[in-house]
Amino acid sequence: MTNRTFTMIKPDATEKGHTGGILQMINEAGFRIVAMKMTHLSKEKAGQFYEVHKERPFYGELVEFMSRGPITAAILEKENAVEEFRKLIGATNPAQAAEGTIRKKYASSIGENAVHGSDSDENAAIEGAFFFSRLEQF
Ligand code: GDP
Repeated sequence: MTNRTFTMIKPDATEKGHTGGILQMINEAGFRIVAMKMTHLSKEKAGQFYEVHKERPFYGELVEFMSRGPITAAILEKENAVEEFRKLIGATNPAQAAEGTIRKKYASSIGENAVHGSDSDENAAIEGAFFFSRLEQF
């Protein structure tokens, strides 16, 4: 168990002006932001990031969506960060997301679900390094 996870505020939430609201929920839940940037993924970069989903039927849609507009990427620190952050974001499908979660409040569908959260310590490290050098992590 490490104390860091990785997140992205996805294009749907960025377009709707929810970046500030989501960052506030993250801070209020006790996460410390140790790296953050706003960027726009190319189709190629979005495809690389979601390479593990390459065989899934929604891969093409996911790549289109994630490269549609700007995102905010961040590394977050808290004890048991991966699990705690998955609890804060809620289920992939907002219809199944618990009350008080980010996806319950801000997601509109299973695809356009406002935020990403790493699913393991190993992936958190890989995903964080995809966006941030050591010099950009505080
Ligand atoms: P997560 O770990 O909760 O983000 O969910 P997954 O790892 O299963 O899926 C990764 C991302 O792919 C999700 O966050 C969604 O943006 C997208 N996704 C998952 N299932 C579907 C689907 O059935 N249709 C579409 N269009 N996108 C999906």
